[in-house]
Amino acid sequence: MNNCISCGSHELNMQTETLSMRYKKAHLDVVSEFSVCKVCNEEFESPVQANANDISMREAKKEHDGLLGKDSLKRLRVQHKWTQQEAAIIFGGGINSFSKYERGEVSQSDSLDKLIRLCTSDTLILKKHLKLIDREDLFKLSAPKCKVVDFISDKSNTQRYSKKITSNNSVHRVIEPIEWQYGT
Ligand SMILES: [Zn+2]
Repeated sequence: MNNCISCGSHELNMQTETLSMRYKKAHLDVVSEFSVCKVCNEEFESPVQANANDISMREAKKEHDGLLGKDSLKRLRVQHKWTQQEAAIIFGGGINSFSKYERGEVSQSDSLDKLIRLCTSDTLILKKHLKLIDREDLFKLSAPKCKVVDFISDKSNTQRYSKKITSNNSVHRVIEPIEWQYGT
């Protein structure tokens, strides 16, 4: 529980305001939280609010600079089934680096941002990178799902092509025209 820094009262209202911040010749609008004492009307930032406001400001700068936001970093890490520690091993910066990025306490560098984007958007690049750092065990994605199109036919020929292949015990599935695609 926070107290008023002036009179010590616990009776506080939480408020927000939008601050315009100058950054690299741009004006960034950042929502800032603060407390207002109901007793003496003192306005102040609690330590928790100050921390949250720092994070908001940092995220706004990152967005302006075209860097991945903290939530995007987390989403990409979770998609690749890495713990924060594993992501730190893969992308460097010390064992706690990725948890700091995800909390918004530290901004990743531009070059690291590019490495993360490259590795998480292309499995071949990721595999090459993991090989370079000798951690191929950290490739955890299951094999990309790929629909094998054995036959492409129109609907009228469905029956003709849906036959069981006894040699390898597989059944060839006829892909409807709408499904003609590889990958997911
Ligand atoms: Zn007060």
